Amino acid sequence: MKNETLFISDLHISSAQPEITQRFLRFLQSRARDAERLYILGDLFDAYLGDDDNLSPNREIKSAFRRLTDSGTKVYFQHGNRDFLLGERFACETGISLLGDYEVIDLYGVPTLITHGDLLCTDDLQYQRARERVRTETWKQSALSKPLWLRRLYARWYRFKSGLDKRGKSTEIMDVNAEAVRTTMTRYGVERLIHGHTHRPAVHELEIENKRCWRFVLPEWGNGETVLCWNQEGFHTEAIE
Ligand code: MN
Repeated sequence: MKNETLFISDLHISSAQPEITQRFLRFLQSRARDAERLYILGDLFDAYLGDDDNLSPNREIKSAFRRLTDSGTKVYFQHGNRDFLLGERFACETGISLLGDYEVIDLYGVPTLITHGDLLCTDDLQYQRARERVRTETWKQSALSKPLWLRRLYARWYRFKSGLDKRGKSTEIMDVNAEAVRTTMTRYGVERLIHGHTHRPAVHELEIENKRCWRFVLPEWGNGETVLCWNQEGFHTEAIE
């Protein structure tokens, strides 16, 4: 019976790590089928160049998504900083639904805020400025109008540059800002938040306006990944075989 909700993020799928792609395909074909809903909170792909990129592994992932949604599991996707060019065409081809940067979902009676997590890393001003620039429709349209080979080349350069940038940043700067978490949870009126991006899996308990609140951080894939499973009774994490 499909009566569970699963959450994953930060798979960073690329042709460089075929074992992650294989594990994910198996996950879509087996475990995910038992679920009523699967939420992917961004950075599914390590670099997503546009819906016209049909090379492997994109092609295999698309057909696996299609088979899963056809089986009755609802799949929802939020953009990460690596795959924000994933668009409507991908959604149509696969039957998944694209969500906004922040969404409040009903998780068995409890309003729960979900997001990729990068917007909460407000201490990283350099990143936030760059994010604002590349998320405009104009920037995206101009990027997508370039030939695929050029986008591929640019992605390689970007990965190199982002590696260099990270070396100069402290780990605190690249984590979420505690105040941003509080104000965002208050703004959306929730006591529960689920996000990824920081690759620091944990369940944090915090107090906001005398209320006990929870922040769930999903792990990246590539070293003993887990899926966060919710049902009527509560949550547990489960290893992905
Ligand atoms: Mn990310």
